[in-house]
Amino acid sequence: REYGGLLANRSFGGAQVSRTFYARGQTGQQLLLGAYGALNRQIAAGTVTLFNRRDVLDTVLVEGKARGIIARNLVTGEIERHGAHAVVMASGGYGNVFYLSTNAMGSNVTPVWSAYRKGAMMANPSFTQIHPTCIPVHGDFQSKLTLMSESLRNDGRIWVPAYKKDVERLRKGEIKPSEIAESDRDYYLERRYPAFGNLVPRDVASRAAKERCDAGYGVGRTGVAVYLDFADSIKRKGRDTIEALYGNLFDMYRQIVAEDPYETPMMIYPAVHYTMGGLWVDYELMTTVSGLYAIGECNFSDHGANRLGASALMQGLADGYFILPSTISRYLADEIHTPRIDTSSSEFTLAAEAVGDRLKKLLNTKGTQSVENFHRRLGKIMWEYCGMSRSEEGLAKALELLAALKEEYRTDMRVPGGLDEFNPELEKAWRVADFIELGELMVRDALQRRESCGGHFREEYQTPEGEALRNDDEFAFVALWESLMGSDQPAMHKEPLEFLDIKLSQRSYK
Ligand SMILES: Cc1cc2nc3c(=O)[nH]c(=O)nc-3n(C[C@H](O)[C@H](O)[C@H](O)COP(=O)(O)OP(=O)(O)OC[C@H]3O[C@@H](n4cnc5c(N)ncnc54)[C@H](O)[C@@H]3O)c2cc1C
Repeated sequence: REYGGLLANRSFGGAQVSRTFYARGQTGQQLLLGAYGALNRQIAAGTVTLFNRRDVLDTVLVEGKARGIIARNLVTGEIERHGAHAVVMASGGYGNVFYLSTNAMGSNVTPVWSAYRKGAMMANPSFTQIHPTCIPVHGDFQSKLTLMSESLRNDGRIWVPAYKKDVERLRKGEIKPSEIAESDRDYYLERRYPAFGNLVPRDVASRAAKERCDAGYGVGRTGVAVYLDFADSIKRKGRDTIEALYGNLFDMYRQIVAEDPYETPMMIYPAVHYTMGGLWVDYELMTTVSGLYAIGECNFSDHGANRLGASALMQGLADGYFILPSTISRYLADEIHTPRIDTSSSEFTLAAEAVGDRLKKLLNTKGTQSVENFHRRLGKIMWEYCGMSRSEEGLAKALELLAALKEEYRTDMRVPGGLDEFNPELEKAWRVADFIELGELMVRDALQRRESCGGHFREEYQTPEGEALRNDDEFAFVALWESLMGSDQPAMHKEPLEFLDIKLSQRSYK
């Protein structure tokens, strides 16, 4: 809070005014604690039953309506059936399709994918947000990336050396960044976007960092990093002020990188952070399957091809606290005469058997390569060809590579352990199988969108200054993908975007 007791706010990427509420780099955590508190209150009141340590593996439809799920008990391996009058998916984003991301290690696409296979359509699956402010990849054996809060761009200045001779000397450890004169630094965001400077939106900042590193100006041991420098702010505002604002983030950085950001600039590089695509929902948050709702990051709504900072939690809270309670009540009102869902019905039995069969098939593959190895390779393909920049040629190549990877996974993957026990490798095996299929859909989606917009940057469609070039005449639509039974090729439908009260326009950050 501010000194006077009002909620503190500051600027975020893509905004030139301070209008984003925050809690010192812990906003998400604080909101989560609030949501946990509200949930626990309902559990204590007996209105909610919590099933911990379960993996949702399938969605069950009865007469075209979502009537429950099939879950695996992660401790005993038991396959469970849960029936309900309606189903709400809230399983989060699928950024881990890239293997390395800022997402939690357990984040996955499986519940969403099960709904997709049962007829719920996926919207704009290739729209991914790459966050510019993450700790760079440091080696092949890394399985996670760490986000440094976007708030740091309020006071940190992003730069790389302006001359290659300094890049070389930095990489060899012959000089420190602080020894490079101001005139020999390239504050490339301030140079390219004088109006927004270091606070351009995430997609713009990420691409600009990639451009500098691809051109050979990247810093750090790998050459795939840029500096985020607080020296000016510390001089201007004093160390105490900076510490009060970002002290916890600086500590985190110091613990991970073993460098002191009060003394030397942070090194950062973009990383996969959020997926704007997901299950298509209407304004009531219902998917294309009756009675199946999707809320939070797992749906596609609200953000389009780009998401501005802080709006994910805004959406999650709006969906869960305000919208769904009203809209699902409307649906349930018509179900008042539907008796308790019978989980011994043929639909549940078939679904449970199919889950059991698929788990056995994964275990019986008995190949030679670990699931982790496949996941890492999948991530490399996605990052290289469907990441920060995409091209017709690269995407076509990715489709071939993914088809080959899928076949190899089917025949040469190995899951240790058994079925009826705690087996995290088996959990991963199911998830990675779904991720590979999702990867194919993302690539198809990116391939058909022959324009650049937000986080979707097609190399063929850019302005002479290297900015995203939209094609509103042909691509002002949401791409909806439908899984077709018995076919590898999904069908694409278009939902036109109609702007009635505001004119579709292009923002300039210059
Ligand atoms: C490091 C980081 C920092 C962020 N900071 C901000 C921020 O400051 N402001 C902001 O607006 N947004 C932020 N975001 C984005 C925001 O936190 C997420 O978009 C948001 O938390 C998504 O909420 P959710 O409830 O939809 O999904 P999640 O929070 O991902 O929750 C999904 C839940 O579903 C569970 N689940 C998944 N699969 C299964 C399965 N098969 N079976 C059973 N359970 C399953 C998961 O374990 C998880 O508990 C941040 C994201 C990250 C990763």
